[in-house]
Amino acid sequence: MQVKGKAKLIRYTADPEQTIALAAKLCYSGDEIDELVEKIGEKDNAKFIEILTKMNHFSPFEHASFTFAVEGVSRALLAQITRHRIASFSVRSQRYVNEGEFDYVIPPAIEALGEEQKKKYESQMKQMLCWYREWQQMLGGAGEKSNEDARFVLPNACETKMIVTMNARELMHFFSLRCCNRAQWEIRDIAWQMLEEVLKVAPAVFGLSGPGCLRGACPEGKKSCGKAAEIKERHAKLVN
Ligand SMILES: Cc1cc2nc3c(=O)[nH]c(=O)nc-3n(C[C@H](O)[C@H](O)[C@H](O)COP(=O)(O)OP(=O)(O)OC[C@H]3O[C@@H](n4cnc5c(N)ncnc54)[C@H](O)[C@@H]3O)c2cc1C
Repeated sequence: MQVKGKAKLIRYTADPEQTIALAAKLCYSGDEIDELVEKIGEKDNAKFIEILTKMNHFSPFEHASFTFAVEGVSRALLAQITRHRIASFSVRSQRYVNEGEFDYVIPPAIEALGEEQKKKYESQMKQMLCWYREWQQMLGGAGEKSNEDARFVLPNACETKMIVTMNARELMHFFSLRCCNRAQWEIRDIAWQMLEEVLKVAPAVFGLSGPGCLRGACPEGKKSCGKAAEIKERHAKLVN
């Protein structure tokens, strides 16, 4: 069955903006920590956080973490997102979980070719499912031992689910790379969903987050998509 990627924020550090502001203030203050905690709680820290971002004082942002449930995504996305080494991942296993009824992602470009081509793609998925089940049987029937080898015939399109945790600093970096139009469509879509989620709970922290072109010249140079204005408009809709 066809699935579509979804990212939902399920847990995060309580008061992320205060936590970051406290960590940063500590660097510059002679106050006792208890006094600082009290002062921070009384203030609106948005301006201070914006200054930290513009100064590139990013280490305090590591004290706030955000955990997402990501599902309906392909193993192709998994290969990309797990390149982000500062993040933490728990991924559904293809060894312990039987993929005998696997769901799959259909790339929009394939879907756009029309019904006939979509059916062809779906029948190719069914073919791989048959191969998978065949190998499971030849290797002794569904179970951990056979799953671990039968999965070699599964496609990159195969759906996976994961729990992903990143601190705010890593998320900002992730959004710079993966909200960019140069990123592949599936991870870009998930990155924008994640950005939308964190903007709801920590707008001051992520107000400047997104592709590099939001903050200055496009870092992609000659490979730029040339759509900075469009991206700024999309981002502004999320922030407001
Ligand atoms: C458009 C696009 C195309 C890509 N194409 C390819 C490709 O063709 N082939 C390919 O292999 N990958 C490709 N990648 C993946 C890319 O090379 C990175 O592996 C991925 O984006 C993770 O980025 P990162 O290492 O900066 O992030 P993270 O692993 O999240 O690290 C964050 C930051 O921490 C620091 N850091 C982390 N680990 C170390 C370390 N060991 N030593 C020093 N500093 C460290 C770095 O400053 C790094 O930027 C592509 C990525 C994008 C966005």
